[in-house]
Amino acid sequence: MTQNVQIGKTEVFSTPLGLGTNAVGGHNLFPNLNDDIGKEIVRTALNSGITLLDTAFAYGMGRSEELIGEVLKEFDRSKIVIATKAAHDPAKGGAFNNTPEFLTRSVNEALERLQTDYIDIFYIHFPDETTPKNEAIAALQKLKELGKIRAIGVSNFSLAQIKEANQEGNIDIVEDEYSLIHREAENELLPYLKEQQISFVPYFPLASGLLTGKYESDVTFPPEDLRSKKPDFQGERFKAVIDKVSQLKLIAADYNASVAEIVLAWYIKNPFVAVVIPGAKKPEQVINNVKALDVHLTQEDYQRINKLF
Ligand code: NAP
Repeated sequence: MTQNVQIGKTEVFSTPLGLGTNAVGGHNLFPNLNDDIGKEIVRTALNSGITLLDTAFAYGMGRSEELIGEVLKEFDRSKIVIATKAAHDPAKGGAFNNTPEFLTRSVNEALERLQTDYIDIFYIHFPDETTPKNEAIAALQKLKELGKIRAIGVSNFSLAQIKEANQEGNIDIVEDEYSLIHREAENELLPYLKEQQISFVPYFPLASGLLTGKYESDVTFPPEDLRSKKPDFQGERFKAVIDKVSQLKLIAADYNASVAEIVLAWYIKNPFVAVVIPGAKKPEQVINNVKALDVHLTQEDYQRINKLF
């Protein structure tokens, strides 16, 4: 039985592995997504015992939340942890907006799309340049007191911005890029969060598929795919990562597991990480990723993987 993880100091508890849903309805991020497959991905995750779904307004400009809302009706809402985010303001051409009015409206509109009356975790998706951080968080604190959200998060904030936003100690969770191949957060950010009892959720845990071991040589993506512009997928950088991933295959074989499972198990054992949220384009990928919950890396193998990257 998987041990649940507490989010910050809140009453929200999640399985240590959730589902990232930017490919569920995220038509603006990936080409050729199918909404029925998206819903099946969510269903598969929930049927496999995963409890946390990570979505955002920006994934399809509300479409991801709508699809999740439709699937939610098939399940016991009280057992599911919904995390969503907002900051992109359609009235300003998608520019970031953190004003209390915008965040309050965003929460109310997300509740409608999700067809629910509370959001377990609500993140400010990106910082804007003008709203004082304490005013933005105060607006979320009010929504928390009203029971519309249960935990307050920020995403893509620098450490200085997090500290500014956390003056009253009201931040429960932070989501930022962190993976085996992007470890900068270990220097200062992650120790600060741990000390403040703020939970951490890394995004791009599989480096958008690069850490699954399925790429052997150069790969190209259509321009509409966000990976077409990522430095990790280009030239020498790509080759260096592929070389390290090939060494992971040996460790994976010892566990009779896939590389994705081993990589996800590394996050589950990582003391800085609360919940790991791999995304998926197919239900089969979810089924594979969930198996990571049953991979228990030895301390020695955890360190081996640590040192490899
Ligand atoms: P990721 O988790 O690093 O990679 C997911 C991708 O890898 C899948 O879409 C799939 O793509 C491939 N994959 C997944 N499982 C696999 C398996 N078992 N075998 C082979 N391939 C597999 O990247 P991500 O989904 O972009 O990021 C995770 C989540 O973080 C997102 O879904 C989103 O919820 C969140 N996120 C948040 C922010 C933020 O600003 N807060 C930013 C980015 C992401 P292919 O099949 O196409 O290879």
